[in-house]
Amino acid sequence: MGKQDTYKRDKEGSEIGEIIVDRDLCIGAASCVAVSGGTYELDGENKAIVKDANVADDEETKAAAASCPTKAIILKDKQGKQIYP
Ligand code: SF4
Repeated sequence: MGKQDTYKRDKEGSEIGEIIVDRDLCIGAASCVAVSGGTYELDGENKAIVKDANVADDEETKAAAASCPTKAIILKDKQGKQIYP
């Protein structure tokens, strides 16, 4: 497990409570940005950061995580249980 940035999500009606980006796994492929540009952007080190954890619906949030080729995006539910990958 690499260095992980955790972003709290408190979107009403969402089952997702946290979006986590593993910075060591992220290779800057930007698939997540392509799927959910409202949620993600790349920082100066070409690593994904979450600029808004609440903007996307669950479907888009899961699709963005699933698009990551290195599975650098981890999703947890509101009880802290990992739901992806
Ligand atoms: S898709 Fe994965 S590897 Fe690519 S920028 Fe997003 S988190 Fe990083």
